[in-house]
Amino acid sequence: MKKENRKSIREISPIDVYKLLPRTNCAECGEPNCMAFATKVVNGEEVIESCPPLLESKYEKDLKMLRELLAPPVRAVSIGNGDRRIVVGGKHVLYRHEFTYQNPPPIAIDIPDDMEDELIAARVKKVRDFSYSYIGRTLTLDALAIRSVTQNPDRFMEVISLVTGLCDLPLILCSFNPEIIRAGLSVCSDKKPLIFAITKDNWREMGELVQDHGCPVVVSAPGDLNLLRTLVKTLLEWGIEDMVLDPGTYHSEQIGHTIHQFTAIRKAAVKNFDSLSGYPLLGTPISVWNGQELSDDINR
Ligand code: SF4
Repeated sequence: MKKENRKSIREISPIDVYKLLPRTNCAECGEPNCMAFATKVVNGEEVIESCPPLLESKYEKDLKMLRELLAPPVRAVSIGNGDRRIVVGGKHVLYRHEFTYQNPPPIAIDIPDDMEDELIAARVKKVRDFSYSYIGRTLTLDALAIRSVTQNPDRFMEVISLVTGLCDLPLILCSFNPEIIRAGLSVCSDKKPLIFAITKDNWREMGELVQDHGCPVVVSAPGDLNLLRTLVKTLLEWGIEDMVLDPGTYHSEQIGHTIHQFTAIRKAAVKNFDSLSGYPLLGTPISVWNGQELSDDINR
């Protein structure tokens, strides 16, 4: 893998950022001067969009250069919309203690569409209302993964409508069948769900759906990192950028393999700036309960 000529966030100095700011010390950003603001940006405590003058058209070129300078090696991908929208990725470092801890991993709970409606409603309400106090923070559950087990597009649409009528949590639509996903998107594409998933077998049709609806998508190639990178490259050429990578989640004696794959991808992105690896990762702990790697058989 070729290392790009880029700096890590820890090699960027406040001066690098300061030089591209308006440098008027107007304090509109809430900081006393541009240098103080630049220092906060480099520390990950502020975003450049908090400088209102920088958003004026006369600074367009500087804003573009700043965005390129500060772009994280792991792309930030947004799922859902409104107050419960979640952002995954946006990482600059390999280990969270190396830098400000941003975008903690969200947790999604599974809703198979063969469940009875009353049970689905009970599960959705439980997820929606769940909260847990931990060291002064209130932790909640973040998303619902609706899984097409019946392989029936009408039932998939029905369940999505039932769920969205009960909560505004971001959704993950799970099926490898483009027809099922098409049906699902017909009732919820405005909610920008995450699509699970594009594979080597469905990439063309699923890719077109993702492009048409502008939704983020999981690229899945369990146990095959070369295939994963090839799929990412193809989708990038199509103009699809909001991707999440699924290298497979294996359990029991293979858990070490899963950790190795996740680490290899993150290292390639953060240390080597490999643009084909620079996306957030998705793990499916449900594989443990299901008894096998989920992506091998999504209908279980
Ligand atoms: S708002 Fe922008 S120009 Fe004004 S002080 Fe802050 S960084 Fe400088």
